[in-house]
Amino acid sequence: MKSVIGFDRICEWCGKKFVAHKSTTRYCCLPCNQKGYKREQREKKARENNEKVKFQSQGIDPEELKKKTYLSIKETCVYLGISRSTLYRNVRLGLLPVIGLGGRTIFKREDLDKFLDDLSTLDNN
Ligand SMILES: [Zn+2]
Repeated sequence: MKSVIGFDRICEWCGKKFVAHKSTTRYCCLPCNQKGYKREQREKKARENNEKVKFQSQGIDPEELKKKTYLSIKETCVYLGISRSTLYRNVRLGLLPVIGLGGRTIFKREDLDKFLDDLSTLDNN
């Protein structure tokens, strides 16, 4: 009697159940594999493009922000790569010091750099 070691998998392309020899196999057959791979590449490209468009539509170049001393709320979001609501949350939690200037809220870039440093320290732990 021959024993077959396999993993019950569902094909990510056609949804068919199949037995794979490796737990990492995601498609039931080569054509499904190729179609799935192509779709993945397309989605990845679209995602990258969206990111770019997001920065461009705001008219803010993240590189330019590194030369500034003070940043507006919008610029800070781009600089930190976070959304406005995440920014406000961090301010409320006291993680990001804000500077009020004539009714305008601005951020000191030094503080933002420190914030980013703290974040990466957290990630490493
Ligand atoms: Zn399939």
